[in-house]
Amino acid sequence: MPELDLKITGGTLIDGTGSPRRRADVGVKDGRVVAVGTDLAAACESFDAQGRVVAPGFVDIHTHYDAQVLWDPELTVSPWHGVTTAVLGNCGFGVAPTRPEHRDLILRTLERVEGMSLSALEAGLGSSWPFQSFPEYMDQLERVPLGINVAVMVGHTPVRLWVMGDEATTRPATAHEVAQMRALVRQAMDAGAVGFATSVSKVHVGYAGRPVPSRLAKFDEMLELARAVGESGHGLIHYNVGRDPLWQAYEQLHAASGRPVVWTSLLAGSLGPGSHRAHLDRAAEQRRQGLPIHGQGACRPIQFEFDFRSPVVFDTWASFEPVRMAGDEAQRRAIYADPAFRARLKRQVAGRGPDDAWFAGKEAEGDTRRASFQEMTISWAADAELLERKLVDLARERGVDAVDLMLDLALESDLQMRWRMALLNFDESEVSEILADPHVVLGLGDGGAHMSQLCDACHPTYLLSRPRPGGARPAGRSGGFRPRPGWRRPPAAGL
Ligand SMILES: [Zn+2]
Repeated sequence: MPELDLKITGGTLIDGTGSPRRRADVGVKDGRVVAVGTDLAAACESFDAQGRVVAPGFVDIHTHYDAQVLWDPELTVSPWHGVTTAVLGNCGFGVAPTRPEHRDLILRTLERVEGMSLSALEAGLGSSWPFQSFPEYMDQLERVPLGINVAVMVGHTPVRLWVMGDEATTRPATAHEVAQMRALVRQAMDAGAVGFATSVSKVHVGYAGRPVPSRLAKFDEMLELARAVGESGHGLIHYNVGRDPLWQAYEQLHAASGRPVVWTSLLAGSLGPGSHRAHLDRAAEQRRQGLPIHGQGACRPIQFEFDFRSPVVFDTWASFEPVRMAGDEAQRRAIYADPAFRARLKRQVAGRGPDDAWFAGKEAEGDTRRASFQEMTISWAADAELLERKLVDLARERGVDAVDLMLDLALESDLQMRWRMALLNFDESEVSEILADPHVVLGLGDGGAHMSQLCDACHPTYLLSRPRPGGARPAGRSGGFRPRPGWRRPPAAGL
């Protein structure tokens, strides 16, 4: 009788401890790894992993499969990339608890903020959802034949909508409403939630251009909900603050709950080149005080593919305010053609001006936005000549203004033309400094979200395939999808 049940041979082992990758075989007995090395004992079954990486499964702490898991229990595409546990509910965007009369509001919020296809959500969830409360949602997950492990955080957005209805997106809560939310968070934690998630990020704009509900919360409300997590005796708090860390708030949330706080996002270039170093230093200071506060980083550049039906990359541009407020596509088209809108956008592209103050007076972030605009590339067009062309190069060749060209091309294509814009985290030497910090947690893959713009759920395989900067680079190009000649993307967005 062979000693081992399974032997994985010939692969490159990356064991997850931080030690360098190496050639090693792995022996498994009774479902556990019992031997690592060469010349392992005989096994009942062998798997030849030559040319492959052998690694422990990844825990993807930042996904948005809350709805998708109900009709796709494999959580496609995460397991294809080595994810064996996915955490749902990030940024506070869950689907439970939801009253029947708020289902449409929740789906429209997910559509707008996480780039999910409304028709896919409606088809997937059907007209009568199998849950209203958070415990009922957890019960439903028990009935789903899950392909990987799933953990769920309770989200601030559904909790606020449950208590306040439509007004969750327009005003702070009363003390009575906060007390009801606190009870709901506690109920969710007792039903097995692994934490509470919320967002105050300015990019989180919900349906009809309104801020997502959690952005309307006073900080006292956040603290009350953190206390509910603390009372449960387990779990953590996920706090999405956008680009600018809120150090004191993390400490207060921890003090109120006694639980770890994970904040999003610690990215390269978020407040200009090199800004991550100040963030790493400040994070180190908190840890020296013994505080379990962790920044969440990403290994891939934050780049978005989009079309002008839903130009999410411009959500942080003040000049795009009329587009955000537009009710439908016809209104957006009219705005794109409007000379006054174009003139304002041209001023914002040309240099610092009053519109930059929209971002809390942080004009330097406007510089990052302008740099991103200069990198805008056409990723899908009916005319193959335009594929992968940079907007500013095309504008120069044609002797026209880049803003006019961008909007004219969008309108001429019936808003179908697709674009790509790298926003942050594209300097690999800076990214590697962030990831080398042992207290930074890898996340932000956003699995299940932004399907019409990006797919970073592949981040585990992306990470494993890349050496540290300075080392030899694997063959192949980086930094975004590049179609093979003749390849055509179906123009419709969707899951
Ligand atoms: Zn998220």
